[in-house]
Amino acid sequence: MTACPLCAAATPPPFLVRPSVPVHQNLPAATAAEAQAAPRGRLEMVACGACGFVFNRAFDPALPRYGPGYDNAQGHSPAFAAHLDALARHLVEQRGVRGARIVEVGCGRGDFLARLVAWPGADNRGTGFDPAYDGPDEALGGRLRFARRLYGPDCADVPADVVVCRHVIEHVADPLALLRAVRGALRGAPGARVFFETPDVAWILANAVIWDFFYEHCSLFSPASLAGAFARAGFATAETRAVFDRQYLWLEARPGDAPMPHGAGDIPALATSCGATEAARLAAWGARLAGLVARGKVALWGAGAKGVTLANLVDPDAKTIDCVVDINPDKQGRFVPGTGHAIVPPSALATRGVRHVVPMNPAYRHEIADLLLGLGGAQLAEWDD
Ligand SMILES: [Zn+2]
Repeated sequence: MTACPLCAAATPPPFLVRPSVPVHQNLPAATAAEAQAAPRGRLEMVACGACGFVFNRAFDPALPRYGPGYDNAQGHSPAFAAHLDALARHLVEQRGVRGARIVEVGCGRGDFLARLVAWPGADNRGTGFDPAYDGPDEALGGRLRFARRLYGPDCADVPADVVVCRHVIEHVADPLALLRAVRGALRGAPGARVFFETPDVAWILANAVIWDFFYEHCSLFSPASLAGAFARAGFATAETRAVFDRQYLWLEARPGDAPMPHGAGDIPALATSCGATEAARLAAWGARLAGLVARGKVALWGAGAKGVTLANLVDPDAKTIDCVVDINPDKQGRFVPGTGHAIVPPSALATRGVRHVVPMNPAYRHEIADLLLGLGGAQLAEWDD
Protein backbone atom coordinates (compact mmCIF):
# COMPACT_ATOMS: atom_id res chain seq x y z
CA MET A 1 0.00 0.00 0.00
CA THR A 2 1.38 3.40 -0.99
CA ALA A 3 0.58 6.57 0.96
CA CYS A 4 -0.68 9.57 -1.02
CA PRO A 5 2.15 12.14 -1.28
CA LEU A 6 -0.39 14.93 -0.72
CA CYS A 7 -2.73 13.74 2.03
CA ALA A 8 -0.95 10.59 3.33
CA ALA A 9 -4.08 8.43 2.92
CA ALA A 10 -3.56 4.82 1.90
CA THR A 11 -4.19 4.51 -1.84
CA PRO A 12 -5.92 1.82 -3.93
CA PRO A 13 -4.18 -0.33 -6.58
CA PRO A 14 -3.17 1.42 -9.83
CA PHE A 15 -5.85 2.11 -12.44
CA LEU A 16 -3.25 2.05 -15.23
CA VAL A 17 0.01 0.08 -15.45
CA ARG A 18 2.62 0.24 -18.24
CA PRO A 19 5.68 -1.84 -17.40
CA SER A 20 8.23 -0.17 -19.68
CA VAL A 21 7.86 3.36 -21.04
CA PRO A 22 10.52 5.85 -22.17
CA VAL A 23 11.58 8.09 -19.29
CA HIS A 24 11.85 11.18 -21.52
CA GLN A 25 9.24 12.26 -24.04
CA ASN A 26 11.10 15.41 -25.05
CA LEU A 27 14.64 14.12 -25.50
CA PRO A 28 14.78 12.99 -29.14
CA ALA A 29 17.76 10.79 -30.00
CA ALA A 30 20.46 11.26 -32.64
CA THR A 31 19.92 7.81 -34.18
CA ALA A 32 17.09 5.29 -34.37
CA ALA A 33 19.18 2.75 -32.43
CA GLU A 34 19.90 5.24 -29.67
CA ALA A 35 16.19 6.10 -29.52
CA GLN A 36 15.24 2.45 -29.14
CA ALA A 37 17.77 2.06 -26.33
CA ALA A 38 16.40 5.11 -24.45
CA PRO A 39 16.10 4.71 -20.66
CA ARG A 40 12.81 3.25 -19.51
CA GLY A 41 10.71 3.32 -16.40
CA ARG A 42 7.44 1.93 -15.07
CA LEU A 43 4.04 3.62 -14.86
CA GLU A 44 1.68 2.64 -12.04
CA MET A 45 -0.88 5.43 -11.98
CA VAL A 46 -2.86 5.65 -8.75
CA ALA A 47 -5.84 7.89 -7.87
CA CYS A 48 -6.07 8.81 -4.19
CA GLY A 49 -9.56 8.02 -2.91
CA ALA A 50 -9.24 10.67 -0.18
CA CYS A 51 -8.04 13.77 -2.08
CA GLY A 52 -8.19 12.90 -5.81
CA PHE A 53 -4.45 13.34 -6.44
CA VAL A 54 -3.22 11.13 -9.30
CA PHE A 55 0.40 9.97 -9.25
CA ASN A 56 2.83 7.35 -10.54
CA ARG A 57 3.65 5.28 -7.48
CA ALA A 58 6.52 3.56 -9.39
CA PHE A 59 8.19 6.87 -10.31
CA ASP A 60 11.94 7.05 -9.70
CA PRO A 61 13.02 10.71 -9.36
CA ALA A 62 16.59 9.72 -10.24
CA LEU A 63 15.63 8.71 -13.80
CA PRO A 64 14.52 11.96 -15.51
CA ARG A 65 17.30 14.28 -16.62
CA TYR A 66 16.17 17.73 -17.71
CA GLY A 67 19.59 18.83 -18.92
CA PRO A 68 21.02 19.68 -22.35
CA GLY A 69 18.98 18.35 -25.26
CA TYR A 70 15.72 18.30 -23.32
CA ASP A 71 13.32 20.28 -25.49
CA ASN A 72 9.71 20.81 -24.52
CA ALA A 73 9.45 24.20 -26.25
CA GLN A 74 6.00 24.52 -27.79
CA GLY A 75 6.38 28.13 -28.90
CA HIS A 76 7.02 27.01 -32.49
CA SER A 77 3.28 26.35 -32.75
CA PRO A 78 1.10 29.39 -33.52
CA ALA A 79 -1.71 27.90 -31.38
CA PHE A 80 0.61 27.54 -28.39
CA ALA A 81 2.12 30.99 -28.89
CA ALA A 82 -1.44 32.37 -28.93
CA HIS A 83 -2.07 30.57 -25.62
CA LEU A 84 1.01 32.23 -24.06
CA ASP A 85 -0.12 35.62 -25.39
CA ALA A 86 -3.60 35.12 -23.93
CA LEU A 87 -2.18 34.15 -20.52
CA ALA A 88 0.15 37.17 -20.48
CA ARG A 89 -2.74 39.44 -21.46
CA HIS A 90 -4.88 37.91 -18.69
CA LEU A 91 -2.16 38.55 -16.10
CA VAL A 92 -1.45 42.13 -17.15
CA GLU A 93 -4.93 43.34 -18.10
CA GLN A 94 -7.30 41.29 -15.91
CA ARG A 95 -5.09 40.59 -12.91
CA GLY A 96 -3.22 43.90 -12.90
CA VAL A 97 0.32 42.50 -13.02
CA ARG A 98 2.02 45.86 -13.70
CA GLY A 99 5.09 47.43 -12.20
CA ALA A 100 5.69 44.00 -10.65
CA ARG A 101 8.76 42.01 -9.76
CA ILE A 102 8.00 38.64 -11.32
CA VAL A 103 9.76 35.36 -10.59
CA GLU A 104 9.21 32.41 -12.90
CA VAL A 105 9.99 28.99 -11.44
CA GLY A 106 11.12 26.61 -14.19
CA CYS A 107 11.20 29.29 -16.90
CA GLY A 108 12.51 27.04 -19.70
CA ARG A 109 13.73 29.36 -22.44
CA GLY A 110 12.00 32.33 -20.82
CA ASP A 111 9.39 32.78 -23.59
CA PHE A 112 6.51 33.45 -21.19
CA LEU A 113 8.45 35.65 -18.76
CA ALA A 114 9.72 37.73 -21.67
CA ARG A 115 6.11 38.35 -22.74
CA LEU A 116 5.17 39.58 -19.24
CA VAL A 117 8.21 41.86 -19.04
CA ALA A 118 7.92 43.20 -22.59
CA TRP A 119 4.13 43.70 -22.49
CA PRO A 120 3.49 47.28 -23.67
CA GLY A 121 3.05 49.62 -20.73
CA ALA A 122 3.23 46.87 -18.10
CA ASP A 123 6.60 48.00 -16.68
CA ASN A 124 7.36 44.58 -15.18
CA ARG A 125 10.74 43.12 -14.29
CA GLY A 126 11.43 39.40 -14.22
CA THR A 127 13.83 36.77 -12.94
CA GLY A 128 13.61 33.29 -14.39
CA PHE A 129 14.90 30.29 -12.45
CA ASP A 130 15.70 27.09 -14.29
CA PRO A 131 18.66 24.72 -13.87
CA ALA A 132 18.37 23.83 -17.58
CA TYR A 133 18.30 27.45 -18.85
CA ASP A 134 21.00 27.98 -21.48
CA GLY A 135 20.49 31.48 -22.93
CA PRO A 136 22.00 34.89 -22.09
CA ASP A 137 22.08 35.96 -18.42
CA GLU A 138 19.89 38.96 -19.10
CA ALA A 139 17.72 40.52 -21.79
CA LEU A 140 15.43 43.50 -22.42
CA GLY A 141 17.99 45.95 -21.08
CA GLY A 142 18.43 44.08 -17.79
CA ARG A 143 14.70 44.00 -16.95
CA LEU A 144 14.75 40.26 -17.61
CA ARG A 145 17.32 38.10 -15.81
CA PHE A 146 17.94 34.39 -15.55
CA ALA A 147 19.38 32.19 -12.80
CA ARG A 148 20.53 28.66 -13.60
CA ARG A 149 19.30 27.09 -10.36
CA LEU A 150 16.21 25.96 -8.50
CA TYR A 151 13.98 28.49 -6.77
CA GLY A 152 13.52 27.87 -3.04
CA PRO A 153 13.82 29.22 0.47
CA ASP A 154 17.40 30.38 -0.21
CA CYS A 155 15.99 32.78 -2.84
CA ALA A 156 14.12 34.98 -0.32
CA ASP A 157 16.60 37.74 -1.24
CA VAL A 158 15.07 37.89 -4.74
CA PRO A 159 11.98 40.03 -4.09
CA ALA A 160 8.79 38.84 -5.79
CA ASP A 161 5.35 40.38 -6.14
CA VAL A 162 4.29 37.62 -8.50
CA VAL A 163 5.50 34.03 -8.88
CA VAL A 164 4.66 32.15 -12.07
CA CYS A 165 5.22 28.40 -12.46
CA ARG A 166 3.98 26.70 -15.61
CA HIS A 167 4.22 22.99 -16.39
CA VAL A 168 6.65 22.15 -13.61
CA ILE A 169 4.63 20.72 -10.71
CA GLU A 170 3.46 17.69 -12.74
CA HIS A 171 7.14 16.68 -13.12
CA VAL A 172 7.78 16.73 -9.36
CA ALA A 173 7.29 13.60 -7.23
CA ASP A 174 6.88 15.65 -4.04
CA PRO A 175 4.71 18.60 -5.07
CA LEU A 176 4.27 19.78 -1.47
CA ALA A 177 8.05 20.23 -1.18
CA LEU A 178 8.02 22.46 -4.28
CA LEU A 179 5.08 24.53 -3.00
CA ARG A 180 6.61 24.86 0.47
CA ALA A 181 9.89 25.99 -1.10
CA VAL A 182 8.02 28.72 -2.99
CA ARG A 183 6.12 29.62 0.18
CA GLY A 184 9.45 29.82 2.05
CA ALA A 185 10.90 32.21 -0.50
CA LEU A 186 7.80 34.43 -0.06
CA ARG A 187 7.95 34.61 3.74
CA GLY A 188 8.69 38.36 3.55
CA ALA A 189 6.06 38.99 0.86
CA PRO A 190 2.61 38.22 2.27
CA GLY A 191 0.92 40.15 -0.55
CA ALA A 192 2.59 38.15 -3.32
CA ARG A 193 0.44 36.30 -5.81
CA VAL A 194 1.34 32.96 -7.36
CA PHE A 195 0.06 31.61 -10.68
CA PHE A 196 0.51 27.95 -11.65
CA GLU A 197 -0.38 26.06 -14.81
CA THR A 198 -0.55 22.27 -15.04
CA PRO A 199 -2.55 19.63 -16.95
CA ASP A 200 -6.07 18.97 -15.63
CA VAL A 201 -6.29 15.29 -14.78
CA ALA A 202 -10.09 15.54 -14.65
CA TRP A 203 -10.02 16.46 -18.38
CA ILE A 204 -7.54 13.66 -19.16
CA LEU A 205 -9.61 11.05 -17.31
CA ALA A 206 -13.04 12.23 -18.49
CA ASN A 207 -11.85 12.09 -22.11
CA ALA A 208 -9.73 8.95 -21.53
CA VAL A 209 -6.73 10.62 -23.19
CA ILE A 210 -4.46 7.64 -22.61
CA TRP A 211 -1.43 9.28 -24.28
CA ASP A 212 -1.49 11.97 -21.59
CA PHE A 213 -0.13 9.43 -19.10
CA PHE A 214 3.66 9.27 -19.45
CA TYR A 215 6.72 9.02 -17.27
CA GLU A 216 7.68 12.70 -17.02
CA HIS A 217 4.25 13.54 -15.55
CA CYS A 218 4.40 11.78 -12.19
CA SER A 219 1.94 14.13 -10.41
CA LEU A 220 -1.44 15.05 -11.90
CA PHE A 221 -4.05 17.35 -10.37
CA SER A 222 -7.74 18.16 -10.52
CA PRO A 223 -8.92 21.65 -9.52
CA ALA A 224 -9.72 20.37 -6.01
CA SER A 225 -6.53 18.37 -5.43
CA LEU A 226 -4.43 21.30 -6.70
CA ALA A 227 -6.18 23.75 -4.35
CA GLY A 228 -5.71 21.17 -1.56
CA ALA A 229 -1.97 20.96 -2.24
CA PHE A 230 -1.71 24.76 -2.10
CA ALA A 231 -3.69 24.87 1.15
CA ARG A 232 -1.34 22.31 2.73
CA ALA A 233 1.67 24.43 1.69
CA GLY A 234 0.25 27.64 3.21
CA PHE A 235 -1.51 29.25 0.24
CA ALA A 236 -5.12 30.35 -0.17
CA THR A 237 -6.38 29.70 -3.69
CA ALA A 238 -8.27 32.61 -5.23
CA GLU A 239 -9.23 30.95 -8.50
CA THR A 240 -8.75 27.88 -10.67
CA ARG A 241 -9.80 28.05 -14.30
CA ALA A 242 -9.64 25.77 -17.31
CA VAL A 243 -7.45 27.05 -20.16
CA PHE A 244 -6.09 25.80 -23.52
CA ASP A 245 -9.23 23.97 -24.71
CA ARG A 246 -9.79 22.87 -21.06
CA GLN A 247 -6.61 20.73 -21.13
CA TYR A 248 -4.80 22.81 -18.49
CA LEU A 249 -5.60 24.26 -15.08
CA TRP A 250 -4.63 27.81 -14.25
CA LEU A 251 -4.51 28.58 -10.52
CA GLU A 252 -4.06 31.85 -8.65
CA ALA A 253 -3.20 31.83 -4.93
CA ARG A 254 -1.69 33.99 -2.19
CA PRO A 255 0.21 33.13 0.98
CA GLY A 256 -2.43 32.52 3.64
CA ASP A 257 -4.68 30.05 5.37
CA ALA A 258 -7.39 28.25 3.49
CA PRO A 259 -9.91 25.53 4.32
CA MET A 260 -8.83 22.12 3.07
CA PRO A 261 -11.01 20.87 0.20
CA HIS A 262 -12.65 17.61 1.21
CA GLY A 263 -13.00 14.46 -0.81
CA ALA A 264 -11.78 13.19 -4.14
CA GLY A 265 -14.88 14.10 -6.15
CA ASP A 266 -15.38 11.92 -9.21
CA ILE A 267 -11.64 11.41 -9.84
CA PRO A 268 -11.43 7.80 -8.51
CA ALA A 269 -14.45 6.70 -10.55
CA LEU A 270 -13.17 8.45 -13.68
CA ALA A 271 -9.74 6.84 -13.17
CA THR A 272 -11.22 3.36 -12.88
CA SER A 273 -13.24 3.73 -16.06
CA CYS A 274 -10.34 5.36 -17.95
CA GLY A 275 -8.01 2.50 -17.00
CA ALA A 276 -10.63 -0.06 -17.97
CA THR A 277 -10.94 1.40 -21.47
CA GLU A 278 -7.22 1.59 -22.27
CA ALA A 279 -6.99 -1.80 -23.99
CA ALA A 280 -10.10 -1.14 -26.09
CA ARG A 281 -8.83 2.30 -27.07
CA LEU A 282 -5.47 0.91 -28.14
CA ALA A 283 -7.20 -1.78 -30.19
CA ALA A 284 -9.33 0.91 -31.86
CA TRP A 285 -6.22 2.94 -32.64
CA GLY A 286 -4.54 -0.14 -34.09
CA ALA A 287 -7.54 -0.79 -36.34
CA ARG A 288 -7.74 2.84 -37.36
CA LEU A 289 -4.04 2.97 -38.25
CA ALA A 290 -4.31 -0.29 -40.17
CA GLY A 291 -7.20 1.18 -42.16
CA LEU A 292 -5.19 4.27 -43.01
CA VAL A 293 -2.00 2.35 -43.83
CA ALA A 294 -3.98 0.19 -46.28
CA ARG A 295 -4.47 3.42 -48.27
CA GLY A 296 -0.87 4.70 -48.02
CA LYS A 297 1.80 5.88 -45.63
CA VAL A 298 0.76 7.47 -42.34
CA ALA A 299 2.50 10.08 -40.18
CA LEU A 300 1.74 11.39 -36.70
CA TRP A 301 1.88 15.16 -36.27
CA GLY A 302 3.63 16.26 -33.09
CA ALA A 303 6.76 14.71 -31.51
CA GLY A 304 5.88 16.12 -28.10
CA ALA A 305 4.83 14.05 -25.14
CA LYS A 306 1.46 13.05 -26.65
CA GLY A 307 2.87 11.91 -30.00
CA VAL A 308 5.83 10.09 -28.45
CA THR A 309 3.53 8.30 -25.99
CA LEU A 310 1.01 7.27 -28.65
CA ALA A 311 3.78 6.06 -30.99
CA ASN A 312 5.15 3.90 -28.17
CA LEU A 313 1.68 2.53 -27.36
CA VAL A 314 0.44 1.71 -30.86
CA ASP A 315 3.64 1.17 -32.88
CA PRO A 316 6.46 0.27 -30.46
CA ASP A 317 8.59 -1.33 -33.18
CA ALA A 318 8.04 1.45 -35.75
CA LYS A 319 6.43 -0.89 -38.28
CA THR A 320 3.15 0.95 -39.00
CA ILE A 321 3.71 4.69 -38.76
CA ASP A 322 6.11 6.06 -41.38
CA CYS A 323 7.36 9.07 -39.42
CA VAL A 324 6.43 11.79 -36.93
CA VAL A 325 6.20 15.41 -38.09
CA ASP A 326 7.31 18.27 -35.87
CA ILE A 327 7.65 21.97 -36.64
CA ASN A 328 10.40 22.42 -34.03
CA PRO A 329 13.62 22.50 -36.11
CA ASP A 330 15.64 21.22 -33.12
CA LYS A 331 13.67 17.95 -33.20
CA GLN A 332 13.77 17.44 -36.97
CA GLY A 333 16.34 14.87 -38.12
CA ARG A 334 16.18 13.14 -34.74
CA PHE A 335 14.28 10.06 -33.54
CA VAL A 336 11.36 9.31 -31.21
CA PRO A 337 12.50 7.95 -27.82
CA GLY A 338 11.52 4.29 -27.42
CA THR A 339 10.38 3.55 -30.99
CA GLY A 340 12.99 5.19 -33.22
CA HIS A 341 10.48 6.78 -35.62
CA ALA A 342 12.12 9.54 -37.67
CA ILE A 343 11.09 13.09 -36.74
CA VAL A 344 10.73 15.11 -39.93
CA PRO A 345 9.73 18.63 -41.04
CA PRO A 346 6.35 19.08 -42.76
CA SER A 347 8.13 19.49 -46.10
CA ALA A 348 9.34 15.87 -45.89
CA LEU A 349 5.79 14.48 -46.13
CA ALA A 350 5.70 14.85 -49.92
CA THR A 351 9.14 13.31 -50.51
CA ARG A 352 8.30 10.37 -48.22
CA GLY A 353 4.95 9.90 -50.00
CA VAL A 354 2.83 10.18 -46.84
CA ARG A 355 -0.91 10.02 -47.57
CA HIS A 356 -2.44 10.69 -44.14
CA VAL A 357 -1.41 12.73 -41.14
CA VAL A 358 -2.86 12.04 -37.68
CA PRO A 359 -2.85 15.14 -35.44
CA MET A 360 -1.86 14.40 -31.86
CA ASN A 361 -3.63 17.34 -30.28
CA PRO A 362 -7.01 18.58 -31.48
CA ALA A 363 -5.99 22.07 -30.29
CA TYR A 364 -3.54 22.21 -33.20
CA ARG A 365 -5.89 20.78 -35.80
CA HIS A 366 -6.55 24.01 -37.69
CA GLU A 367 -2.94 25.07 -37.97
CA ILE A 368 -1.96 21.59 -39.19
CA ALA A 369 -4.73 21.64 -41.80
CA ASP A 370 -3.51 25.05 -43.01
CA LEU A 371 0.10 23.85 -43.27
CA LEU A 372 -0.94 20.71 -45.17
CA LEU A 373 -2.92 22.77 -47.67
CA GLY A 374 0.24 24.69 -48.51
CA LEU A 375 2.25 21.48 -48.95
CA GLY A 376 -0.11 19.52 -51.17
CA GLY A 377 -0.26 15.72 -51.07
CA ALA A 378 -0.86 14.48 -47.53
CA GLN A 379 -4.33 14.78 -45.99
CA LEU A 380 -5.40 15.21 -42.39
CA ALA A 381 -6.90 12.00 -41.01
CA GLU A 382 -10.24 12.62 -39.30
CA TRP A 383 -9.87 13.17 -35.56
CA ASP A 384 -12.74 11.17 -34.11
CA ASP A 385 -11.26 10.03 -30.80
ZN1 LIG B 1 -4.52 12.02 -1.23
